Amino acid sequence: MHDLMIRGVHPWKPGSGDAVDIAVDAGRISLIAKSVPETGREEWHVGGRLLLPALADPHHHLDKACLVGRVGASTDLADARARFGKLRPNLTPEDHRQRGERVIQWAISHGVATLRTHADVDKTVGLRHVEAALALREAFSDRITIQVVAFLPASAPVNDEESWRALADALHLGCDAVGGATGNRGAEAPTLMRRTLELAEKAGGMVDLHLDETLEPAVQNMAELARLTRGYGLEGRVAASHCCSLAVAPAAVRAEAIGLAAEARLHVIALPLTNLYLQGRESGLRGVPPVAEILAAGINVACGSDNVQDPFLPTGNADPLLAAQVLGIVAQLADPDFLLEAVSLRAAHAMGLSADTDWCRTGAPACFAVADCGPEDDPVARLAPRPLVVFNGRVVRRPGDGAHDLPPIRTSQQEE
Ligand SMILES: [Zn+2]
Repeated sequence: MHDLMIRGVHPWKPGSGDAVDIAVDAGRISLIAKSVPETGREEWHVGGRLLLPALADPHHHLDKACLVGRVGASTDLADARARFGKLRPNLTPEDHRQRGERVIQWAISHGVATLRTHADVDKTVGLRHVEAALALREAFSDRITIQVVAFLPASAPVNDEESWRALADALHLGCDAVGGATGNRGAEAPTLMRRTLELAEKAGGMVDLHLDETLEPAVQNMAELARLTRGYGLEGRVAASHCCSLAVAPAAVRAEAIGLAAEARLHVIALPLTNLYLQGRESGLRGVPPVAEILAAGINVACGSDNVQDPFLPTGNADPLLAAQVLGIVAQLADPDFLLEAVSLRAAHAMGLSADTDWCRTGAPACFAVADCGPEDDPVARLAPRPLVVFNGRVVRRPGDGAHDLPPIRTSQQEE
């Protein structure tokens, strides 16, 4: 008897043809065949639905999530930072836990197996946001892999040594990466990038920077980030999130930056939802990096949710397929395979994890989601619900689970 059987499923991409049965044992796929005669302790017949690889969401801010009701929606990035800044000093661990749990449970219900969150670190909040994120990482470790980025917020001066000591402490506490924001730093941006990379190099961690989250054409830090990445020998371990102003750089500047980024094996993480909401209020420009050009240079491009119902974005539901669909529209990419990869295999790669394109094979970790659509459908276009989600062999969402915080819907004939 197998631990788990999923019957009648079409794995996304690996070959086509008939539906298969997938057996899972000890957290891994143990057998894939047209028809598996043995039974499973838990069995699901999914009627020819599409099986998606584990989704990955490479950019969240759980410390900010679900605060829009308290502070209202913002008008631009500076306003959003100011609104969050008022609450920041007084957020309790319990408050962090409750809001974080909500969003993580939403993510799990969408089939997200890996989620990266940026947690503010500076002398105002110290390590409180990091500690809250690490506690969530631990509490949910049997249902989702969470990565924590120790993030120096835009409001913290680059030369504040107390904040840098706190960032180093955060990495010692177990943060996976270090980050900060360059967009508003002006001439200090290179110092921020250098010190961030220096910390990561010493601690053996990764880097994930909010790079140039602005549409000011003169703000262009990608080329310097690429040079520094090679200088510190961190190729493949540095992610550049946002990269909005690259879209408005002169063509020659853009080409040089993208060429250097490819050599440094930077990962680019596009965050269309928040950037479309906050950027370009005056100019009408869109805040999304030139994805087609970046991809053409061979750079790994991923996509993430960023903010969820907070001062930075009043909407959002932690479904990376929504972010992928919007990216496809705003970046004018008619490539359904890329869009799904951007929130699964490519996003995992950007987070330093395995991005095995052969994800559905015997011996692979059993991390996947059944989409409520057929093999010919585009799950991103349909935002197909994912009623069955498996994380390392454990079923973490079952059909009928519905919203995690509400009782199930019943007919009036069912018992109270
Ligand atoms: Zn962010």
